[in-house]
Amino acid sequence: MLRRLPLPIPPATGETVKSYLQRLATVHDVIYEEMWHWVSAPINGNAKQRIIIGERLAAATGRPLDRLAEALPELDPDTNWLHLRDTPQPACPRCTARHPGGTVMRLFPLLAYACHRHHYWLGPPDVGESPALRHLSDFPDLLSAQRRHGRLVRLYGPMTVFDALVHAFKICAVLWKNGPEETYGHSRWWLWDQRLDQLIPKTDSVGAFSHSLCYAAIYPEAVTIAGLLAHPVWRVKAACPLGDPDTDHRWEFTCEFGRRLGLEDYYPEDPKHPAHLWADHHAPQPCMTPATFPEHRVGSIDGVSPGPPVRALRKHHQAARYFAKKRYAANTLIYHQHPGAPVIETYYPQSGPYARQRMRLAAEQRTTPGPG
Ligand SMILES: [Zn+2]
Repeated sequence: MLRRLPLPIPPATGETVKSYLQRLATVHDVIYEEMWHWVSAPINGNAKQRIIIGERLAAATGRPLDRLAEALPELDPDTNWLHLRDTPQPACPRCTARHPGGTVMRLFPLLAYACHRHHYWLGPPDVGESPALRHLSDFPDLLSAQRRHGRLVRLYGPMTVFDALVHAFKICAVLWKNGPEETYGHSRWWLWDQRLDQLIPKTDSVGAFSHSLCYAAIYPEAVTIAGLLAHPVWRVKAACPLGDPDTDHRWEFTCEFGRRLGLEDYYPEDPKHPAHLWADHHAPQPCMTPATFPEHRVGSIDGVSPGPPVRALRKHHQAARYFAKKRYAANTLIYHQHPGAPVIETYYPQSGPYARQRMRLAAEQRTTPGPG
């Protein structure tokens, strides 16, 4: 029989079950694995695989299950996983200051990049021993970008805007990498370089390196471009082929693209320009589906504390070392897979195995007779 835990510790909004159990265990001085065994049951009689039983957690904490489910997405049968990130990440420290027992790990909605109330940079989630916690007091444009981002989501829906923003990040990263000739010498990258140097100081390129902060350097402009890519009318215009003799739609699209970055009369002719690549390959396609937490979670509710993510950490350190050499954040972002997004090879300077795989799959699809 499960006994009631003496201290009333509420869960934090969006918290993972594991984070909540770890905090409960810390505060009550109980071993986490024991706590997990109390509130879980084997799946299909397999002793090694266990699943959380909401009623047991309710009994242990003395909190009604429906109240727990309001905070813990994993206990809520109505959670729309497609609207949440696929990786738990540290919550804003001020939002969760009243929750004892350690750092709250939570699942944020796809659109959460900064905490409005306390002005901390939140996401996308990072790998690394100590995820970057950056206060944005010197970055009002990042905070206003988060507000614009929220408006886009209310207008077009979370998944459309997620798709648009992930592509906008890649497009901005390629512009940043290509430099002045892409943008007639008026590009924003001086601003991106400046922000990057503020976010990741040159004096500590390796230690302070963070993919998340590289994204922060271009976030405001990426949101601006995402507004264009998510717009249904501009999607249709962009899908018209480059050099179409019947319409000027593609040029109208690039002109609007440039205007949003402060570039007048922007008509890039290189078909490999990232805006053209997006228009050719993604504008006519349905939006991509984000990866969800249940399909990506590893050892987070099975009662086994996962060890350090060795492979991910090794890649993180490798990226930090490359970054420290010349501080090419643009390169870092082109090759980084945004959490929750499928691999997008469209903007790579050279196509790799994924592109070949995609071509093979497309060829297979063509040879398979369709319905009817
Ligand atoms: Zn906060």
